[in-house]
Amino acid sequence: MKVLVPVKRVLDYNVKPRVKADGTGVDLANVKMSMNPFDEIAVEEAIRLKEKGAATEIVVVSIGEAKAQETLRTALAMGADRAILIQSDGPVEPLGVAKLLAKVAADEAPGLIILGKQAIDDDNNQTGQMLGALLGWAQGTFASKVEVAGDSVDVTREVDGGLETVKLKLPAIVTTDLRLNEPRYASLPNIMKAKSKPLDQKTPADFGVDVAPRLTVVSVAEPAKRQAGVKVADVDELVAKLKALGVAK
Ligand code: AMP
Repeated sequence: MKVLVPVKRVLDYNVKPRVKADGTGVDLANVKMSMNPFDEIAVEEAIRLKEKGAATEIVVVSIGEAKAQETLRTALAMGADRAILIQSDGPVEPLGVAKLLAKVAADEAPGLIILGKQAIDDDNNQTGQMLGALLGWAQGTFASKVEVAGDSVDVTREVDGGLETVKLKLPAIVTTDLRLNEPRYASLPNIMKAKSKPLDQKTPADFGVDVAPRLTVVSVAEPAKRQAGVKVADVDELVAKLKALGVAK
């Protein structure tokens, strides 16, 4: 079974985002970019399936600017077999990404597509669900456990009240939650080996997909700065202040 893993290049999760002076977006010039953390979990899960003998090949795909190749090489160094870059200079919204992934799925015929539950830059949490709808495949979102058995996959999902397990007939779509696994680091020899793994380059036009944005970002603003705190002398003063604010009786 082939596993397809879409990986997005995003602002590194340790970097504090800076809003551009004109309020049109987040400033990505000269800042560290990395693989979306939920996609690292997706790559790790695909590798574990291959190690268990449930998967035979892992194909990673990224839609983005040429530098997304670095993200694909990271996935190859972790253990993916092959990569596809669909190069687009502007940002592609989840519907465009899902349409492109549906075309890749038609060409590659994977048994499983494992995506992150959300990309931490735009927090959309839409692509996996849209892809499920476009392909007409079953989907298990927010997975904390994935077990392939024959022609189906059991996905344990993190829901409000606890855990829910669903059985999906393959081919299927899974989106990863934080507790699914802990992704491995790529070793230096594997980083070297990844340089010679195949990386195919395409464009949205090769797939006949229109990725023109449907949304216009009206404005982007940083959260309001927190007010400085006040030191109190003792508990009595604290209680008096809380009473004055109506927080305590
Ligand atoms: P989103 O719906 O934007 O929150 O993204 C959910 C998931 O879809 C991500 O974790 C990725 O697995 C995949 N994805 C979204 N955008 C891209 C992209 N430009 N390239 C590759 N995968 C993507």
